[in-house]
Amino acid sequence: MADNQSSRVYLDWSATAPMGPAAVDAFAGAARVWANPSSVHADGRGARAALEDTRGRIARALGASGNLVFTSGASEAIGIALGRANAASRIVGATEHRAVCAATPDAAVAPVDGDGRIDPAELDRLLAASPPRVLVAVQHANNETGVIQPIAEVARLARAHGALLLVDAVQSAMRLPWPEADFVAVSAHKLGGPPGIGVLFVRDPATLSADGGGQERGYRMGTENLPGALAFAAALEARAADAGWTGRVASLRAQLEARLADAGAMIAGRGIERVPHITSARMVGVESMRQLMLFDLEGFSVSAGAACSSGTVKASPVLRAMGWSEEAAGEACRISLGWTTTEADIEAFAAAWARIADRLQRRAA
Ligand code: PLP
Repeated sequence: MADNQSSRVYLDWSATAPMGPAAVDAFAGAARVWANPSSVHADGRGARAALEDTRGRIARALGASGNLVFTSGASEAIGIALGRANAASRIVGATEHRAVCAATPDAAVAPVDGDGRIDPAELDRLLAASPPRVLVAVQHANNETGVIQPIAEVARLARAHGALLLVDAVQSAMRLPWPEADFVAVSAHKLGGPPGIGVLFVRDPATLSADGGGQERGYRMGTENLPGALAFAAALEARAADAGWTGRVASLRAQLEARLADAGAMIAGRGIERVPHITSARMVGVESMRQLMLFDLEGFSVSAGAACSSGTVKASPVLRAMGWSEEAAGEACRISLGWTTTEADIEAFAAAWARIADRLQRRAA
């Protein structure tokens, strides 16, 4: 496969980020040293020691606390917490990722306001009306708009009602301070690590039932992904060492949004506190899948709605939950930036956006 970074402009970092050189080296190194961390022989014990070492490295880089359970990604981490927390019912935010919605089809839904933020008064009301021992699941930052949830307030309400809290920190880890919660899910491939590995931090193992799986304290079954864990740790350490990256990304996004707004874009949650790397821009009158295909032809990779629902022509449920009409929510594309995005990338994309909008909107007029 060709190196997609050389000839194209990649602006879909919220879907997945390229693996960095340190992570690639760690992965390749681990692939040359083969042993199952559960084997009792010397090779196995060496692999076990390396795996255990990565737990501390990952927690330190993230600024996290709690017991770290390796999983195959954030979706599995979320599924474990939602499925096995010692809770009688569940409340989920209205703009959660599909990993949450799919795992809890019967959950009560805490609505968001027009800015995409959980309404604390509504959450308080739902918690008061729920049977005891509720699990609340709220994302720290939204994967389509970047909008940051009032997570300290959500945690305070959960505590006041004796509820457990799961925070999906996939889009906020290494970008915002670590959230206080009973469970926190993170994914490696959004942070320069490989796909196929994630973590669930568990504050108190007594709040999560094990299922008798032979690995990860009985929380899951399956040979541990040691190359993935080593590469994940290396990726996080590279991010931690690159102190200015979130500021660089934030100023590139500000530049992008200014250029898109000048060309007529409507930006979801503009002016609201958001993680620095995501923007959701509506091109009035042009379906998002059509935009996506035209951007693709011009060499830009962006996304329509959440990555996991790309390929389906469906208005963004996140924007719908924020009160956008079906039509408006079907005309937004997500553009997401990362640590190797350049000003030239932003300028080239903004110019393409303006050109395409001008052509299609003029034709429709
Ligand atoms: N939660 C959020 C907010 C995400 O953006 C994603 C990935 O798109 C996930 C969960 C799922 O992560 P993974 O791909 O590691 O299963």
